[in-house]
Amino acid sequence: MNYKVPRGTQDILPGQSEKWQKVEEIIRQLCQVYRYQEIRTPIFEQTELFQRSVGDTTDIVQKEMYTFKDRGDRSLTLRPEGTAAVVRSYVEHKMFGQPDQPVKLSYIGPMFRYERQQAGRYRQFVQFGVEAIGSKDPAIDAEVIALAMDVYETAGLKNLKLVINSLGDADVRAAHRDALIKHFEPHIDDFCSDCQNRLEKNPLRILDCKVDRENPLMATAPALTDYLNEESAAYFEAVKKYLDVLGITYVVDPNLVRGLDYYNHTTFEIMSTATDLGAITTLCGGGRYNGLVEQIGGPESPGIGFAMSIERLLLALEAEGRSLDTDNALDMYIVAMDDQAKLKAVELASSFRAKGISTELDYASRKVKAQMKSADRLGAKWVIVLGESELEEQAANVKNMELGSQEKVPFHDLVNYLTKHKVQ
Ligand code: ATP
Ligand code: MG
Repeated sequence: MNYKVPRGTQDILPGQSEKWQKVEEIIRQLCQVYRYQEIRTPIFEQTELFQRSVGDTTDIVQKEMYTFKDRGDRSLTLRPEGTAAVVRSYVEHKMFGQPDQPVKLSYIGPMFRYERQQAGRYRQFVQFGVEAIGSKDPAIDAEVIALAMDVYETAGLKNLKLVINSLGDADVRAAHRDALIKHFEPHIDDFCSDCQNRLEKNPLRILDCKVDRENPLMATAPALTDYLNEESAAYFEAVKKYLDVLGITYVVDPNLVRGLDYYNHTTFEIMSTATDLGAITTLCGGGRYNGLVEQIGGPESPGIGFAMSIERLLLALEAEGRSLDTDNALDMYIVAMDDQAKLKAVELASSFRAKGISTELDYASRKVKAQMKSADRLGAKWVIVLGESELEEQAANVKNMELGSQEKVPFHDLVNYLTKHKVQ
């Protein structure tokens, strides 16, 4: 048998997993200071939740969902995105009743989409996202955007571009929809069959089509920004003003519509401008979704959020030639010369680890020389060699591998000695 990971998935091996942990740590810290508390929802939900919220005409629902029947004949879907589930939970647990609105939530976990695999596009990928539900203050839009930018900047990315747009409210969307139909209808035969379907159902989706991207009618399509009513325009201006106050630079792209139906007003994407990145440059997407909570059965609770995949963040770092400082150093390697020494080695290792000193030893009964080589390969900061004379003296020479120096320390003092010298 020749087993392989399923297409579009990957194993994250040691060497790579430290980077994931580092990114997760950055995310956890930033969520803590911005006050987005973690929520963990199931990996699968009722299929209908995604159909209704993400939208029937979207690529996600039409082509990308992993949908299956369970043994009780219920239709379930592996979550393709996070917002629908978080909003479902907000409604189910009546979080709208909490005194402090918006409720600010964050999540990180695997999402599943049946997509063609390419760099930056997987069938299982990990999204970090936040949702602020229960406020339509433009300052919260700016806060959400600022948090996303902060994650990338803290991870070390420099070549970032923030693109924003406003989709306006329902009236704006309706007027724009009519204009789009008028624009595309005479030439719709030149478009792909998906777009032909979208024309009546949801013409905005045409602007997001990957097949017809180069069609000249795309560039000349009526822009939403020209249809913004006074209220929507004022809201967009306020968001921009807050971004200015935060010192966040952005460009407005009137064609940024995003691939999910529930968005309105503010939408944004953060792209990488690193030249080595390849075809996929969008790192993060988000926007406002006033109305989604009502659609899922709750009271009026306007929301905004974003999602980014860790895979694309790491690819962008690689494209910029930057590495995360991962802390995977080994503090101590204990070399044992015989079985008696091994007993002591196991005992000492336990006392070191209890104080947070990372410790490794030999489990292959190798000669001293081979154990020393291991210590070297693993980059141990210190080594002690235990043999008959050490056991007799109840003391060991602590070798500092970086400095090439050594010092004799009694066994009972070792923990103190190492703890004191670890923080330098
Ligand atoms: P794209 O246009 O690249 O397909 P999307 O509009 O489908 O993106 P969203 O649904 O908005 O993306 O998801 C938000 C973020 O999740 C993306 O910006 C990207 O970082 C990440 N993402 C989406 N799909 C994948 C995938 N298949 N593999 C890895 N990351 C992904
Ligand atoms: Mg997609």
